[in-house]
Amino acid sequence: MSLLVQKFGGTSVGSVDRIKAVAKRIAHSKELGNDLVIVVSAMGHTTDELTGLANAISNNPPQREMDMLLATGEQVSIALLSMALHELGVQAISMTGSQVGIVTESSHGRARILEVRTERIKALLEEGQIVVVAGFQGTSLSSGGTAEITTLGRGGSDTSAVALATALAAEACEIYTDVPGVLTTDPRKVPDAQLMQTLSCDEMLELASLGAAVLHPRAVEIARNYGVTLIVRSSWTDQPGTILTSKTKRPLGREGLELGRPIDGLEIVNNQAVLGLSHVPDQPGIAAQLFEILSQGGINVDLIIQATHEGKSNDITFTVCDEELSKASQLSESLLKKLGGELTTQKGMTKLSISGAGIMGRPGIAATLFETLSRAGINLRLIATSEVKVSCVIDSSLSGKALRMVTDAFELNDSQIHINPEVTNTSEPEVRGIALDPDQAQVSVRRVPDKPGTAAALCSALAEAGISLDAIVQSERQHKDGGRDISFMLKKEDRKKADHALAPLLAQWKDTGLEEGPPIARISAVGAGMPSTVGTAAKMFRALADIDVNIAMIATSEIRTSCVVAEIDGEKSLKAIHHAFKLGRENE
Ligand code: ASP
Ligand code: MG
Repeated sequence: MSLLVQKFGGTSVGSVDRIKAVAKRIAHSKELGNDLVIVVSAMGHTTDELTGLANAISNNPPQREMDMLLATGEQVSIALLSMALHELGVQAISMTGSQVGIVTESSHGRARILEVRTERIKALLEEGQIVVVAGFQGTSLSSGGTAEITTLGRGGSDTSAVALATALAAEACEIYTDVPGVLTTDPRKVPDAQLMQTLSCDEMLELASLGAAVLHPRAVEIARNYGVTLIVRSSWTDQPGTILTSKTKRPLGREGLELGRPIDGLEIVNNQAVLGLSHVPDQPGIAAQLFEILSQGGINVDLIIQATHEGKSNDITFTVCDEELSKASQLSESLLKKLGGELTTQKGMTKLSISGAGIMGRPGIAATLFETLSRAGINLRLIATSEVKVSCVIDSSLSGKALRMVTDAFELNDSQIHINPEVTNTSEPEVRGIALDPDQAQVSVRRVPDKPGTAAALCSALAEAGISLDAIVQSERQHKDGGRDISFMLKKEDRKKADHALAPLLAQWKDTGLEEGPPIARISAVGAGMPSTVGTAAKMFRALADIDVNIAMIATSEIRTSCVVAEIDGEKSLKAIHHAFKLGRENE
C-alpha cells in the first residue's frame, strides 16, 4: 500500500458541494488501497475575509492574535471534510497543525517548519484512518515550553503538505487545485499556453512568478531538497496534471526541515574564456546577429551578460570554453567590422557556482559568496545570479584558493563538490516555460571602483536590508578613472529601501551615483536542456529582433536566459518568445 499526501486548496473546498465532491474523490482513492493524509486550506476566500475583519478593528493587530484568527479558517474545513467522509462511510479524523505535530519557529505570520512529529499520525494511519490536517498552521514551543499557534504565511498549505510528505516518506504529494497543472506560460497573457507534463523543481523555481502562481515556493524548495515527488493537478477532472521531480535527496537532518543548509552544491569549471564586446549599437537585432553567427559556427555559449549604458551603445559579454575562443573571436570580429565596437578576450578563466533552492529569497547567500571571494583578494570578472544558482567567473590561478574558502564558508562536503563536470546531453527540452516578471526595477551604480570587494559590498548592504538582487552586471567599459558601472535588478517594492541601504556605501566611493532605468519587464526562458543545446539564446534574441523590440539587459544562468525589455513591450515579447520555442498549443 502506498502513502499519499493530498492537498486541496481553497476553491476545491469552497462550498459544501465542493467539500462533498472532494470527499468522494478521497474515498475513491482510499478504495484503490492508498493510505491517505489530506491537507486542506480554508474555504474559498475565508482567509481574506478574516484578515478584513482584523483590519476593521486595528491597523496593526498583534501578530499572535492574527495567527489565532487565521488558523480558524482551516479548522472549519478539516472538520467539515471529515464529516463528509464519515457520511460516505469512510473512517477519517481531523487534526490541527499542532495536534499532528507540525512544529515551527516561533515567529508569527511567517513561521518556517522545523519538524513534523509523526508518531500520532502514523498510529492513526495504522488504524486505517484518513487523517485530515489543517494546512497553513503549526505550533511553536516558546521558551517557556508553552505551545503557541503559528501560521506559515499566505499560501502556506502547500508547504504543510510537502513537509508532511517529507516527514512521512510518502510516495507522492498531490496538490489538487483549480488549474490543470503548471503551464508553459501565463494563459491570461498567452491563451495557447500548454500544460507541462513534467518539469524539475529547479526549473519551477527558475520560473519564479509563473511557478509561484501555482505553488507556494517554499513547498517547491522542500520538495527539491528532500526529493519528494510533487504532482499538481485539477480537483475538477481526472487529468494527470504536472509532475515535478528532483534529483536531490537529503536525509532529514537535525537543522530543522526548512532551515537546512541552503547551499548544497559547488561547481568549478576551468578553461573558460571571456569575450567582451563593447560599444556595439544599442538597437534591436544586435544580440540576435551575434549569437546566431556563433550558433551557426557550432559554438556553445555559456553565460551571456549585457547591461544598459549611458549613450547609444551597449556592451555584451559572454563565455565559451577555451578551445572555442579563437573561432568565437573570429566570428565576433567579423560582426564588429560591420557594426563597429571593440573586442577584448581573456583565456584561462574559471567559473565557480554554488547551487541550492531559494537563493533569491535569501539575499545573504550571494553576499556571503562575494565576501568570501573578496577576502581572498579575488576579483569577479562576471557574475550571474538566479533562483537556484550564483556563478562568478574568476582568474583560474586563484581557483584552488576560491574552492577551499567557498567550501568552508558554506560547510560543503566532498560529495557536494563537482570539478569540471561533463555537460551531459539530456533529452530535456532547451526551453520548457517562459515567465514574465513585471514588478522589477533596474538600477545602475555608476563609477564604482574595479577591485575585489565592490560587488560584495553592494550585495551585503542590500542583503542586510533584506533585499535580493537579480542580474548583477558589471560594465565591460571602464571610465577614465578605471571605475566600472554595476547594474542590477530588484523588486520595485524594494526600490526605496535600496536607496537607503546603499547611501552609506555610495558616500564612501568618490563620484558614484545611483541611477534608475526606465520601467522594465523581465522575460525568462527556462529549460534543463539549455546547457547542452547550441543556439537557445540566439533563438530568443531573434524572436525579439523580429518584432523590433530592443533588449535593455541580458542575464543568463545555467538553465535560464533572461532578457529585460521596456515594460510596454513585455507581453508581446512573451508571446513572441513562447511562439519561437514552439510551446503553444498550435504546435502540437
Ligand atoms: N488559507 C491560507 C491562505 O489563504 C493558506 C492557503 O490557502 O494555502 O493563504
Ligand atoms: Mg494556494
